[in-house]
Amino acid sequence: MREQTCVVVGGGYAGIHTIKALLKGFQGKPTGRKLRILLIDKESYHLRKVLLFKPAAGGENITIPLADLFPEGVEFIQGTVMKVDSESKQLHYTSAKGIACSQAYDQLVITVGSIVRQTDPDLGGIALTNLQTAEQIRAQWRSNLQKAIHCQNKKERERHLSVAVAGAGISGIEAAAELVYTMKQEAKEQGLDPSAVKVYLLNAQERLFQEGPAKVGRKIEHILTNAGVIVRHGFKALYEKDGRLTLSNGEQLAVGLSIWTLGLLPNPILRTLGLATTKEGQLIVDACYRVQGTAGIYAIGDCAQIIDPATGQADRLTCKEATAQAARLAKVISADIEGTRAPEHASFMDFFCIGLGPGHGMVWTRKWGLDLMITGKLGWKVRKFTWDQASLLQ
Ligand SMILES: Cc1cc2nc3c(=O)[nH]c(=O)nc-3n(C[C@H](O)[C@H](O)[C@H](O)COP(=O)(O)OP(=O)(O)OC[C@H]3O[C@@H](n4cnc5c(N)ncnc54)[C@H](O)[C@@H]3O)c2cc1C
Repeated sequence: MREQTCVVVGGGYAGIHTIKALLKGFQGKPTGRKLRILLIDKESYHLRKVLLFKPAAGGENITIPLADLFPEGVEFIQGTVMKVDSESKQLHYTSAKGIACSQAYDQLVITVGSIVRQTDPDLGGIALTNLQTAEQIRAQWRSNLQKAIHCQNKKERERHLSVAVAGAGISGIEAAAELVYTMKQEAKEQGLDPSAVKVYLLNAQERLFQEGPAKVGRKIEHILTNAGVIVRHGFKALYEKDGRLTLSNGEQLAVGLSIWTLGLLPNPILRTLGLATTKEGQLIVDACYRVQGTAGIYAIGDCAQIIDPATGQADRLTCKEATAQAARLAKVISADIEGTRAPEHASFMDFFCIGLGPGHGMVWTRKWGLDLMITGKLGWKVRKFTWDQASLLQ
């Protein structure tokens, strides 16, 4: 059989797990099938996106060069994909040097993911959207700490030591927990009173962790409160101006920094690729991840609307769902090449891990109708394992 070219666009969680599964499924098999695998990403690295709060708090590097992840068996091109011509099976992209290029494919896997919801710059604060804003956040809270050291006015000093995280989904919770820990440490090292550090977590809902039961939300809140996070429910942060964050209940918080963590949106490039999208902007796929109206094009992860054919439920935009889809996708591609029946999508079990500051984590899953929860050091170990596993570090 002629060698086929499979192009994977996007080296996020969905993309790297697709490649891992393709390498496992196609290499060394005595079927005579050969697959050339090409990875295209606009960056040269895999971004461990779920850890964005780490550079915002402690300056940690959360990138892994894609060439290091796949030293063998995968060709890497750095370029931004702009358009897909599904008739002629050509992909058009702009190279890292800005040159318009094209690439032929037999199979094309689109995993260009999502973007973090931006806020209007007039609202003030910084949205935790990417590495640059994470660095801005870190620079700002550290500069505020320096201002606090030299500030004689008590109220103003308190303000310099206060941060608000607006948006209390998992990424807001993890950001608040990591920040309070790191800021207190730094304050102590700089001779400031660590108990003066205030991190607010502002939740528009009435409780944390809407994805699971209320008792798990209460447990998370309890751990956060013990760590020094002030959790406020039931109203929104509206805008920050001159160090005052105005809330929807009319209250104003004096803060040195406001951080927005407002969730994910499909990658805007999806609307211009020339493929079918939902009105929200995700690619439309069938139960085997084949993009509607095309041959040989598949999409998984945050960029596709993936519906469980048994329940009609759409998958969430999470890593664990993306990685489970990737493992199944490799089998779908293999079946489509062989002309056999491909497996269909099935939802991932309810399973959530949340980091609650260094050394602390919480895992919740539901099995046989029972809520299983692990907290503390073991919760942290599981959390770290899932982060590492998602980025192929084990
Ligand atoms: C702050 C934050 C915290 C999160 N926390 C969690 C969590 O705790 N648990 C969890 O399960 N999920 C979490 N998520 C969601 C999780 O990150 C996503 O579900 C996951 O990243 C989806 O993987 P993906 O591969 O589909 O997309 P992405 O990870 O977004 O990867 C997309 C890739 O495509 C590349 N790309 C984009 N456009 C182009 C283009 N035009 N051409 C070429 N390459 C392109 C990008 O550079 C990137 O490498 C979090 C997300 C954020 C932002």
